[in-house]
Amino acid sequence: MSANSIRAAGAVRGRALCPDPHARRWRLLDDAVLRWGEGGALSAVESARAVEGRGDPLPPVTHPGAVWLPGFVDTHVHFPQTQIIGSASGPLLSWLERSVFPEEARFADDAYAARVAERFCEQLLRQGTTSASIYSSSHPGATHALFEALDRRGLRAEAGLTLMDRGAPDALLRPAEEALEACGALADRWHGHDAGRLRFCVTPRFGLSCTPGLLRGAGRLAEERGLWVQTHISENPRELEATAAAFPAARDYLAVYEDLGLLHARTLLAHCVWLSPSEWDRLSAARAAVTHCPDSNLFLGSGQMPLAEALGRAVRVGLGSDVGAGRSFSLRRAAARAYDASRITGADEGPAALLWLATRGGALATGRGGEVGCLAPGYEADLVCVALPPDLEEPAGLSEDERVELLASRLVFCEDWGGVREVRVRGRRAWAATGEGAGEGR
Ligand SMILES: [Zn+2]
Repeated sequence: MSANSIRAAGAVRGRALCPDPHARRWRLLDDAVLRWGEGGALSAVESARAVEGRGDPLPPVTHPGAVWLPGFVDTHVHFPQTQIIGSASGPLLSWLERSVFPEEARFADDAYAARVAERFCEQLLRQGTTSASIYSSSHPGATHALFEALDRRGLRAEAGLTLMDRGAPDALLRPAEEALEACGALADRWHGHDAGRLRFCVTPRFGLSCTPGLLRGAGRLAEERGLWVQTHISENPRELEATAAAFPAARDYLAVYEDLGLLHARTLLAHCVWLSPSEWDRLSAARAAVTHCPDSNLFLGSGQMPLAEALGRAVRVGLGSDVGAGRSFSLRRAAARAYDASRITGADEGPAALLWLATRGGALATGRGGEVGCLAPGYEADLVCVALPPDLEEPAGLSEDERVELLASRLVFCEDWGGVREVRVRGRRAWAATGEGAGEGR
């Protein structure tokens, strides 16, 4: 049993933003009480007035002036790029060669990997992320160290050894059979750990770094074990040309994965900047999910994903920080960048809808829609409490929708006015700002 599986019942009180389970909308409760039971699942989300009306005791407001919402879900982030965040050596292929591959080679050292894993988990939590889809390096030892840190810090995650058997320095390459065997052993150890809090995810880096044999084997492993698959697709025009040359039989980029058994309802595809209408249609028909990484796309000058193409086809979309091409672990920052990107691509999504993608959307995109991303009885109590700008007043006479949009815009755009106060996973306090009892178990 994991140390973090020891749970206690509890409650918090304050303003709460509750996502709709399916539509990109929110309900606002100005003074709510959120309770969870010993298993870490929410048992009640109700107004303080209702609690008072029954004559039940009311807990004090947990963080006055702050708002509770479901923990952020980062659907795309690279653990071994933590130390090279902001390395300005793009575009994509030169950035990989100059900044990423030399750093990822250092993860052959298990002790280094364990040190960085601890910092990585700390960065996720301090930004209010409670669940993440993570690429490790190509090293089994580093991947194991990552899972150990995720377990210790109480995070929810899917993570995988990054598969590469060509197109990178020798120190990062691992032959297909050896790599897939290592994946099997990591899945045996970690997949489903602590009642599904941790999952192993099959993680080919992208077509250019994998032979067809490795991709086919990865698809088979995912199929046999019921695992999720995450990979990159269609990020940068030069990558598209090189991929077409490396896979001459594939009709387009999506077909590289489609033809080798890697495109299905448990597939999470990052970037999707340059997909054709046919690729969008097939991705949608396969019920694959998409992770939108706008900050990374800006940093590497890759272009921007046309969000409307995905949402218009009811494709599940989450937001990804994509650290280290993304310059921040904050999903609030990712949502702000998604707003900017949506202006460029003509998608008409406002702050409330984008904040929904950063929480509930990510839960649905990663197959955790039945577990997290809603503040309602039955969902697990993965929560973040964010301070609001104290000096920004709310005008009188707004409708509820207008109030939600205003609150969402402050959460998304006013990151520098107020930070994360407290983070809980299954009700257990996983992180708290200094002065709020950081490091306490409850
Ligand atoms: Zn990435």
